[in-house]
Amino acid sequence: MKAVMKTAPKQGFEFAELPVPKPGPKEILVKVKATSICGTDVHITEWDEWAQNRIKPPLLYGHEFAGEVVEKGGNAEGVEVGDFVSAETHVYCGHCFQCQTGNAHICENVKILGVDINGCFAEYAAIPASNAWKNSKKINPKHASAQEPLGNAVHTVSYCNVRDANVAIFGMGPIGLCAVQVCKAYGARKVIAVNPGEYRRKLAEKNGADLVLNPKEDDVVKEIMDATDGRGSDVLIEMSGSPQGITQGFESLRPGGEVGFLGIPPKPFEFDWSKNVVFKGCTIHGVNGRKIWDTWYRSRSLLESGKVDLGKIVTHELRLSDFAEGIELMKKGECGKIVMTP
Ligand SMILES: [Zn+2]
Ligand SMILES: [Zn+2]
Repeated sequence: MKAVMKTAPKQGFEFAELPVPKPGPKEILVKVKATSICGTDVHITEWDEWAQNRIKPPLLYGHEFAGEVVEKGGNAEGVEVGDFVSAETHVYCGHCFQCQTGNAHICENVKILGVDINGCFAEYAAIPASNAWKNSKKINPKHASAQEPLGNAVHTVSYCNVRDANVAIFGMGPIGLCAVQVCKAYGARKVIAVNPGEYRRKLAEKNGADLVLNPKEDDVVKEIMDATDGRGSDVLIEMSGSPQGITQGFESLRPGGEVGFLGIPPKPFEFDWSKNVVFKGCTIHGVNGRKIWDTWYRSRSLLESGKVDLGKIVTHELRLSDFAEGIELMKKGECGKIVMTP
């Protein structure tokens, strides 16, 4: 089968011809119908500092996908051949403290598909049966693939009380865009979206943001204060990872506000903790992955009710052979979610 591989510790990727994987005793083999590109895949392709420290080539990467189960190992339970599945990408151990206490998403032995173990940028993927999420056959495979990032947004927003609240969301990548829709679905009063790139600012508008700001031109803190009767946002959803964005997000958060923090800063940076956190009395929730399976059920009900439409997030449909084009679009920020078919 054709697969996107990182074969050597350097920038770039290769198409490789691999044998179709044989599912282990507790695994299933999935024929990939759709797979989507994540920011993580850009880091791996570009071979940045994070990738250099984390990735051990050779690796078949990619982690977002949906497809049909075509084979299962002898001890693979809960999934049948013919099921249409997506994958929870955090492969958890099941026996550490976090796993035993309902927090498997932050398992201390976690292995992530397409990061620590072979992933899904291929015609087939073998995954643990316990990581399979059974989709309704009605959901478009291209949308089913994007449930993983939607789950990041749902998980982040679920920690904060957004009902009737003024919410500022920094960073309009696909997860930030999903967060706009999720906040509206959960009854936010006003959603303010902040993003430097124009393409994604327009998408933020399409996804329902009430006010869209450009940090390169607008005085973001002042604009957010003005839009919230001078109070500041009630909730900050941080999806940018940008030191400037994070600082502006906290400076425009009202005292006592809540923060859902998913963005990953590229490296440590200086931040005024006493002013922005202590004296402000705000609450910060660090967010990693999705609650298994709580977040997936919440995402399902948002999709089934039509309150969230992933059709507004997926902007490009390519073939797996167009992977290089997908990475270029991602680097320029001129896309929402890019979905590929093998
Ligand atoms: Zn992802
Ligand atoms: Zn564990």
